[in-house]
Amino acid sequence: MKKDILSMTYEELSREIAALELPKYRTAQIYRWLHRAGVSSFSEMTDLSKELRERLNDNFVIFSCNIEKKQISEYDNTVKYLFSLCDGELIESVVMQYKYGYTMCVSSQVGCRMGCRFCASTLNGLVRNLYPSEILSQIYAAERDLQVRISHVVLMGMGEPLDNFDNVMRFLKLITDESGKNISMRHISLSTCGIVPGIEKLAQRDLQLTLSVSLHAPNDRIRSEMMPVNKKWQVAELISACRKYTKETSRRISFEYALVADKNDSPECAAELASLLKGMLCHVNLIPVNEVKETGCRTSSPERVKRFSELLSENGINVTVRRRLGRDIDAACGQLRQNSTKHINKEQL
Ligand code: SAH
Repeated sequence: MKKDILSMTYEELSREIAALELPKYRTAQIYRWLHRAGVSSFSEMTDLSKELRERLNDNFVIFSCNIEKKQISEYDNTVKYLFSLCDGELIESVVMQYKYGYTMCVSSQVGCRMGCRFCASTLNGLVRNLYPSEILSQIYAAERDLQVRISHVVLMGMGEPLDNFDNVMRFLKLITDESGKNISMRHISLSTCGIVPGIEKLAQRDLQLTLSVSLHAPNDRIRSEMMPVNKKWQVAELISACRKYTKETSRRISFEYALVADKNDSPECAAELASLLKGMLCHVNLIPVNEVKETGCRTSSPERVKRFSELLSENGINVTVRRRLGRDIDAACGQLRQNSTKHINKEQL
């Protein structure tokens, strides 16, 4: 079984290099190829001898993302990728261009088992977790393809990051590593549907990232209808974990709220939400829900969105309405999904 070299920390790689009785300086050299240049094969490591490249290839595998399809939005240059992984599974990622740079929305799982009623990623359930290398290589593949530097990362693609906790933590360590891409932890957001033990574990790590919590409803009745996860960890428990999180990390939480017509977009819901979040170090992101055919959720009218936002503001809650990028290529929130009819049979490892 070949080892997953791209998921190794610098220290782990240096132990592997020592075990192969290679000189110490090889670690820095190989790590640079992997994490700075973002290569997808050992043959690209052109300053290594052919013999060494073959030796590496015998012992290790670079789990990379292959571009199967690329769509570019005509409105805003948002790019959506369909990537295939080494076992032929498919994931999607999105690159958005902002004034301050490029943000990439990456997937953390193939599919998702959380079952949120409005979301496309969960329609076929969970297939498997992504390895740290596979989360990283989405970024490396896009940077190489677009010839740009990704400066911000959001874990808001397919999957539930806290349902793949250890691999996501390792991904964070690697992507922020000074010897690698060196993306600032402050430029990273992690979004969860509300897995309370995961939020508690994350608080202990005391990272400088932004935690986004997909709240979407101000009470258990509506939230349980929209998000099955609420049956396990209810609103009161979730909000108390969030309050604890901000206390322990001094970081502001961002609450996501997708507005669904006649479901969670009434003025009463806005008032209830405002009182739920009162006094908390937080921000609310309102997202008119993106309609996914199979879910039957209808988006709120601009008037309802405006009213909802005003009510929150008037009650002292920080709020913004999220812009919809990549709307012509289904790249917006919750629209990422595996194209399940297509399965590429890559040569097995
Ligand atoms: N599993 C994580 C992250 C992935 S989803 C989470 O639940 O937070 C990223 C965000 O998109 C979440 O806030 C999610 O609730 C939201 N989302 C999913 N489907 C959507 C849709 N159809 N319209 C708008 N937002 C959606």
